[in-house]
Amino acid sequence: MGSQEVSTVDWQGKYVTVAGLGVSGIPAARALHERGALVTVVNDGDDERARAQAAELEALGIAVRLGDGATLPPSTELVVTAPGWQPDKPLFLAAAEAGVPVWGDVELAWRLRGDNGRKAAPWLAVTGTNGKTTTVRMLASILEAVGLRTAAVGNIGVSLLDAVLGDTEYDVLAVELSSYQLHWAPSLRAHSAAVLNLAPDHLDWHGSMEAYAADKGRVYEGNTVACVYNVADPATEDLVREADVEEGCRAIGFTLGAPGPSQLGVVDGILVDRAFVANRQKQAQELAEVSDVDPPAPHNIANALAAAALARAFGVEPAAVRDGLRAFRPDAHRIEHVADIGEVAYVDDSKATNTHATEASLAAYDSIVWIAGGLAKGATFDELVIGAAKRLRGVVLMGADRALIHEALTRHAPEVPVVDLDRTDTGAMSEAVARAAELARPGDTVLLAPACASMDMFTNYNKRGEAFADAVRARADESA
Ligand code: ADP
Repeated sequence: MGSQEVSTVDWQGKYVTVAGLGVSGIPAARALHERGALVTVVNDGDDERARAQAAELEALGIAVRLGDGATLPPSTELVVTAPGWQPDKPLFLAAAEAGVPVWGDVELAWRLRGDNGRKAAPWLAVTGTNGKTTTVRMLASILEAVGLRTAAVGNIGVSLLDAVLGDTEYDVLAVELSSYQLHWAPSLRAHSAAVLNLAPDHLDWHGSMEAYAADKGRVYEGNTVACVYNVADPATEDLVREADVEEGCRAIGFTLGAPGPSQLGVVDGILVDRAFVANRQKQAQELAEVSDVDPPAPHNIANALAAAALARAFGVEPAAVRDGLRAFRPDAHRIEHVADIGEVAYVDDSKATNTHATEASLAAYDSIVWIAGGLAKGATFDELVIGAAKRLRGVVLMGADRALIHEALTRHAPEVPVVDLDRTDTGAMSEAVARAAELARPGDTVLLAPACASMDMFTNYNKRGEAFADAVRARADESA
């Protein structure tokens, strides 16, 4: 059977246990119930909200067990789990022992696509430690530029199940997948897929770097046209080599340097394609200019090349790559330019919640006053500081784990002035901006790229970024 064909499951009378009441569990339970499955939802929590949700499902005839997400109901033939549930939970151990398969939300969407009589659109999939959302949105923008009916879906906030079962018919989907989702998606077969990069993240969940990489690598399994990898990150190419793909599927690299055959890359400020051309030994096709990418920071050019590679694998014309990239605007708090005050640029990259993302944003500017700190999530900062030391005009630190960054700065960049705010309250941000402004010289960039999670001081990274932007705008108004 061709891997893109729709597999059908007879749900009538099938005993399915849905693990987790939540954004993916509730729609999954409903969709399966509508198809005749005998659904039981199990959930660890038993609070007021869970009870209200349970009552709604029970009214439809779906069984719900609150306060016990560990026990596998005896007649279960299939478990459908929320992607975040950790694989070593007793429920999954019991399922493995009983030979019961476990699917995540992505696997379920993959299996249900096309079963409502609509066209089963092929998936162009993106995973990686950083840059997924940006790349998937760039990809959707390129696909839209040729008039394809598409959407950016998956881990991006638009559920795959909704996309697959909803009223809109798509020609192709741009799908963001997390390592958790891939872990629980054994039969997913994308048209083409990209792994953008691999850095240690979520290791507590996966158990080891090897297990994390293996789950990311699942995205290449069964690809039909292209497996897109990052030339600068050989681990991604290793994953392509290990994957079992359809015959004729090609490995396509992207690089910030000049591309070799079967690669996309950059020559003299131009994004070029030496993969999807008639003669890749001799020919290169211009796709777009570096200045067409917003922001034109190196890591973001890499994202654009990955998006372009997937679009080209799907047969999109070169001109649409340029048009799609030009039409793309980054999401908020991702290297977002807030204001220029007295020849100093203020940039909000609050989404840089880990060191890998921060490394990329620090690499994008020549002279930086860096605002950092928050919850480190077990990270170390030595490499980050060593790589950025030469470009640091100064550093302002705040948040719970700021001492870890301060120590790394003392070790590797003792000459760089550091202001340690010794604060973890929300109001610290305006003081941070004021102190950063004192350190900055004309031509510098004040960059919020915390390398940490935000929850010690803010509700989330959005709120952190907004606090920064508010403080910057207040200064801009004063100086106007
Ligand atoms: P994700 O969806 O993987 O979290 P985003 O596109 O939302 O990725 O970007 C998250 C953060 O990672 C941003 O702070 C951004 O600056 C940084 N980033 C984006 N692309 C890359 C990349 N290719 N390599 C490293 N860091 C990146």
